[in-house]
Amino acid sequence: MDIISIEDTRRKRKEKKDKNTIPYIKLYKVILLDYLILKEAEMKKCIYCKCDISNDSVIDFCERCGKGVFGEKMLGAIVENMKEAQQRGDLDQGASASPH
Ligand SMILES: [Zn+2]
Repeated sequence: MDIISIEDTRRKRKEKKDKNTIPYIKLYKVILLDYLILKEAEMKKCIYCKCDISNDSVIDFCERCGKGVFGEKMLGAIVENMKEAQQRGDLDQGASASPH
C-alpha cells in the first residue's frame, strides 16, 4: 500500500514536471516574439529603401524616398496632413500620447 502510494506520488510529480515544462517554453516563445515585435516597432524602416528612420516620423518612408516618390512640395503637404492627423489621434487617446 505504502509502496504503491510512493510510486504513484513519484509518477504524479513527474507528470506535473512534464506538464510544467511545456508552458514555460511557450511562454518564452511568446515573450521572445513580443520582444521582437517591440524591437521592430522601436525602429521604423523606410518602406522603399529600408533604411532606418526616426520612430517619431509621421511617414513610413525617409525624406529622400519621399521626395523621390512624391516630390518636395507633395511630401511637405503629406507630412503636414499626417502630423495634423496624429495630433488629432493623440487628443482622442487622451493622456496616452507618446512622451516625445
Ligand atoms: Zn528611403
